[in-house]
Amino acid sequence: MEWLLFDVEGTIGSLAFVRAELFPYARRAMPGFLRQHAGSPEVHAIVERLAEEIRMDPSNVDAVAATLQRWIDEDRKHTDLKELQGMIWEEGFRKGAFRGHLYPDVVPFWNRARSRGLRLAIYSSGSVLAQQLLLKFSVEGDVSSLIERNYDTRVGSKSDVGSYRRIVEDVSVPPSEALFYSDTVSELDAALSAGMRTCRLLRPGVQPTEHRHHEITDFTSELA
Ligand SMILES: [Mg+2]
Repeated sequence: MEWLLFDVEGTIGSLAFVRAELFPYARRAMPGFLRQHAGSPEVHAIVERLAEEIRMDPSNVDAVAATLQRWIDEDRKHTDLKELQGMIWEEGFRKGAFRGHLYPDVVPFWNRARSRGLRLAIYSSGSVLAQQLLLKFSVEGDVSSLIERNYDTRVGSKSDVGSYRRIVEDVSVPPSEALFYSDTVSELDAALSAGMRTCRLLRPGVQPTEHRHHEITDFTSELA
């Protein structure tokens, strides 16, 4: 085996961190962020574009922010929204408003794997920027250098077999030389269909379900 591929939420970090901390933070911070960065060409360009799309006056920042907050509530996958969220999180991570949650068994396992010559990658529906921030500002310190590749939904949906084919092609190994860890059975099914090896994480509080994958509750015994 050459590559280990990791899901984030529910696998290396808690679901609650992203859902109960990151998303509500971006929602709360949106109006203030737009006002504070109105002079930044990057933010200004996004606000102008959004205002045109929703037919609002771009100088009415609070109205634009209110629409974005509604989109967050509706879980809209909008590129400009994702980009603003990424910028808000970056500011939050840098300010120390929160640190990326990682289960305590993760980094020791990554170090064991790397000392055996395995290479590590992440595939998450969170953007590559969000993944990198989570690892750079994690509860375990900056562990971003342990991960060589990051993939998000730009390679495709996590339940689509084609996404896993594209990832193994990108890291240039036969699928059987890559192992995918996830808490979500539909993702593991897709990876298995692509010929990858799979392992399901059953973290505390998650209901056991029937499936055809190897299963562990944490990484403590992996390569131990
Ligand atoms: Mg997950």
